[in-house]
Amino acid sequence: MTRLDDLPIRDDLRGATPYGAPQRPVRIQLNVNENTHPVPEAVVAHVTAAAERAVRGVNRYPDREFTELREHLASYLSAAEPADPVTPDQVWAANGSNEVIQHMLQAFGGPGRRMLGFPPTYSMHSIIAAGTGTEWITAERDADFRISPETVRSAIERAQPDIVVLCAPNNPTGTPLGLETIEAAYAATTGILLVDEAYAEFMPEGHRSALSLLPGRPRLAVSRTMSKAFAFAGARLGYLAADPALIDALRLVRLPYHLSAITQAAAVAALQQAPTMLATVDAIRTQRDRLLAELPALGYAPHDSWANFVLFGGVDDPAATFHYLLERDILIRDVGLAGHLRVTAGTEAETSEFLEVLGRMPR
Ligand code: PMP
Repeated sequence: MTRLDDLPIRDDLRGATPYGAPQRPVRIQLNVNENTHPVPEAVVAHVTAAAERAVRGVNRYPDREFTELREHLASYLSAAEPADPVTPDQVWAANGSNEVIQHMLQAFGGPGRRMLGFPPTYSMHSIIAAGTGTEWITAERDADFRISPETVRSAIERAQPDIVVLCAPNNPTGTPLGLETIEAAYAATTGILLVDEAYAEFMPEGHRSALSLLPGRPRLAVSRTMSKAFAFAGARLGYLAADPALIDALRLVRLPYHLSAITQAAAVAALQQAPTMLATVDAIRTQRDRLLAELPALGYAPHDSWANFVLFGGVDDPAATFHYLLERDILIRDVGLAGHLRVTAGTEAETSEFLEVLGRMPR
């Protein structure tokens, strides 16, 4: 049998491991921070009709500039941050924000360049860095996974990276990130600052997103996704807002027609139904806050979260707890942090069952 190492693979990929969140057909899947509420029927009908119209035209290549989709994404972002509206020429999109991030690294990273991140953070940042030949360098967080303006400033001054990536709120810890830290990072670097806001919709009402910092900051990019709050993970649609010049840089590295006509049509249709698609956000926040409130009573130590998941410590044997839950049809995530596990805030019923089963586990 041929092994990977027998192939003339790039030296820097030898020994690397792929992204590997387990996919198991269990009843309660709380492991990859999806929106676990079903897509509302009205949205299913609207998206299906739009996809059907798109299918009639798939003999032709799709709009390479995904014009209509960029318009809808710009309106959506502008409604979220009305004080600093985003225009369609400030918007980019791709098949998931992972691909958006890859485009960023293809344009601004690459061999001989370095990206600075603050682990524990989203594992794909370093994997996409590796895939694009960008060196991944790290700096430490403060207590409880926070990053102060001073911490970010001194890390950037020390490392002089080409790209800084900050995850706000951070995955897998849920930790909020203040705008002051983002401002300090931008001021400290002459490179690109990428703020990954995959979970932005779950932040508290009234908290301003990094989008509000875009005016006057042409090296800042803010990535978002329809995979989390929007309940659209399977459709694969991520996006980014930045200065139009930065968007032009991404046009240099994308493959032509990277967003299929069906993806574009489905995403536009879903955005037209944004209030319905996002109707579950409050309920999910309530379940997240319930996890934060109830886990201590079971003897665990949850970390503050602004996302749709909770990282909790006080787990004596994460692998054993993970398997105990899995045997009872509940899949959560072992993110490889000693003494910790991460759980997505699901529906009320899913969250109740998770808490009940965890509470019954002999310790
Ligand atoms: N960024 C963060 C912080 C994430 O947690 C995820 C998904 N786990 C993504 C980006 C990628 O999401 P997608 O490619 O589905 O948009």
